[in-house]
Amino acid sequence: MPIPRTADIVVAGSGIVGLALAWRLARSGFKIVAFDAGVAGGQISAATFAWINGTSKTEHEAYHRLNRAGVDAYEKLARQIGASAIGLAGNGSLQWAGPDKPHLFDRMRDQGDVLRRWGYSADWVDAPAMRRLAPGLSLPDGAEGLFASLDRWIEVPRLLGWLKAQLAERGAILRENCTIKGLDRASDGSVRAAVTAEGVIPCKHFVIAGGTAAASLVELATGRSGFPVQELAGLLVETPAAPLAPGFDMVLWSPDETGFHLRRMPGGGLLLGADDIDTQIRANPTEDSLLAGRRTLIERALDWMPDLRKIDLHRGATHRVGRRAMPTDGHSILGPLKDSAGAYVAATHSGVTLALAIAELLAEEITTGTMPAALAPFRPARFGF
Ligand SMILES: Cc1cc2nc3c(=O)[nH]c(=O)nc-3n(C[C@H](O)[C@H](O)[C@H](O)COP(=O)(O)OP(=O)(O)OC[C@H]3O[C@@H](n4cnc5c(N)ncnc54)[C@H](O)[C@@H]3O)c2cc1C
Repeated sequence: MPIPRTADIVVAGSGIVGLALAWRLARSGFKIVAFDAGVAGGQISAATFAWINGTSKTEHEAYHRLNRAGVDAYEKLARQIGASAIGLAGNGSLQWAGPDKPHLFDRMRDQGDVLRRWGYSADWVDAPAMRRLAPGLSLPDGAEGLFASLDRWIEVPRLLGWLKAQLAERGAILRENCTIKGLDRASDGSVRAAVTAEGVIPCKHFVIAGGTAAASLVELATGRSGFPVQELAGLLVETPAAPLAPGFDMVLWSPDETGFHLRRMPGGGLLLGADDIDTQIRANPTEDSLLAGRRTLIERALDWMPDLRKIDLHRGATHRVGRRAMPTDGHSILGPLKDSAGAYVAATHSGVTLALAIAELLAEEITTGTMPAALAPFRPARFGF
């Protein structure tokens, strides 16, 4: 099929961020053509833990608030169309420690104080309360923890399916397996057309949502190298269906240096990851190290939920490596590119949490020409782009 002859807006990259943006802009009446070099949603968005949260972002208030906007945007959409239509699930997140680790109590208490000060629900809970919240969890005597009721997780393929259906319904076009090769700009730098592997498509606006390819797309579009996004590998393990306690639907995570985390999967298994294992596999990205990481993650899950030893969780487990697109200061890069009127970028980690909020805010900016205040700390200009 030939590419469309024109578009108001070309979206370069159709992962969760590009598709959410395309949907939101199509809702505002723009003629949208979204491209993906491969399968839409087939890169980072296909290998993510997909915890929707503001809980783990307590170091930078504006970034926490951006993530909070993401959490709220999912709740709003779920109220309108039903949580199951977009695969929104989970009933909060929980982290805890035993009394032998007082420094972790302090860390969690500090985190809870910050979250509550910023208006994010965070409750201090004792072991009996945690056992009610997360049935099947084995806790040390005297354990205490922090429960964040607003956190969720999402079945990303279901959300992406819904977004694609919305695009089709609104007349927006999604072209997969068609690579963006460059940007044709007028002598004053303003966007004239997107250059694709299958031809040139004149457009007024061009939005880069290329995940780990953000830097190369910015360079193709503007001729400027060094866009500050690095690629950071992360290991995810999915277990076979496990005898989880009825009602277990919490994101569990460890406040210690392992950063171990788990949640259930729609198929009944568990999804596992950990910060320390990610560090190890980055240092030693061999199949042996991935398999060792996988074993460690499963053993940790069994320590947390000993009843799961009734089946062999190692057998039939699978693993995959996702590649985070991480801005060098850890925070999203969202907004117009310098000297390139009409060109924008949306590069971020936590893109699952943030996708709907980024879509809303950038659509507002593109539609009105005015920057929403929430985007002020996250501009490409802070890096000279
Ligand atoms: C292990 C791991 C765990 C994570 N856990 C969480 C979590 O718990 N919560 C959370 O919020 N986030 C999490 N993230 C981050 C989150 O998954 C990502 O931020 C998000 O998926 C990024 O989406 P994206 O659309 O920006 O990128 P992608 O999904 O990678 O989409 C970019 C798309 O651009 C396309 N593309 C690239 N170059 C071109 C080109 N030249 N032309 C056309 N198309 C192009 C690619 O094919 C790709 O499909 C995690 C990530 C990883 C790896």
